[in-house]
Amino acid sequence: MSNRLNLARLAGRPEIFHSIQGEGKNTGVPSVFVRTSLCNLHCVWCDTDYTWNWIGTKFPHINDNKPGYKKFDKREWIAECDIASVADQIAAFRCTNIILTGGEPMLQQPALTALVHVLRAQSPAYRIEVETNGTLVPAPDFDAVIDQYNVSPKLANSGNVRRLREKPAALRFFAQSLKANFKFVLSEQKDLQEVIDLAAVYSIPPEKIWLMPEGTNAAALAKRRKWLVEVCKANDFRYSDRLHIQIWGSKKGV
Ligand code: SF4
Repeated sequence: MSNRLNLARLAGRPEIFHSIQGEGKNTGVPSVFVRTSLCNLHCVWCDTDYTWNWIGTKFPHINDNKPGYKKFDKREWIAECDIASVADQIAAFRCTNIILTGGEPMLQQPALTALVHVLRAQSPAYRIEVETNGTLVPAPDFDAVIDQYNVSPKLANSGNVRRLREKPAALRFFAQSLKANFKFVLSEQKDLQEVIDLAAVYSIPPEKIWLMPEGTNAAALAKRRKWLVEVCKANDFRYSDRLHIQIWGSKKGV
């Protein structure tokens, strides 16, 4: 089993921070976030593009035309960490709800499985959530240590071609897993139709689906909130706001 983890490096340090869950089923729960580097998708609006948008790649990003925006140097933005040191950094926060996020954390299942074993040897109270884009099927030993999957399949507006973003075996797994819930960020009617279609094709019950408004600041979220609440009422989906954006906008590592 691997004892090294590739974490995102932010401000010169592995990105491990104490905050509150900002969206979905567990909104408001104090949590430690562990951000892995690397992703198997390349969403044009991704706000953690420092985990995958490497120099030398051709993936487009909405910031490409912004003055000063540059692709990232992989050597500077990945922190290769020893599992024991990651566990120590997590333990220092004295908070037992842990959120493995990314990038796409499930690209590093063996190392994350090892991390959870180290944490639980210290305290069985640790509860582990995974934020995933829903394209990878969990290995049995990884699945065994995870308490909750927050699955966020990407829609056409992400710019990823369908064969990359929609992996039937993985979506079927999560649709049937009692640990999984789904969340989607919506900006317009055609996004909603995609969610309805995915739910029908993969038999995802509406009570497992959380919808959130698109936006990178409080004003943008407010513009879509009323529409989305009505959509949730009409389809029996759950509504989630995005607390971290309300409070911190697009600031990282908080
Ligand atoms: S799947 Fe997530 S981390 Fe990966 S590119 Fe899309 S938004 Fe970014």
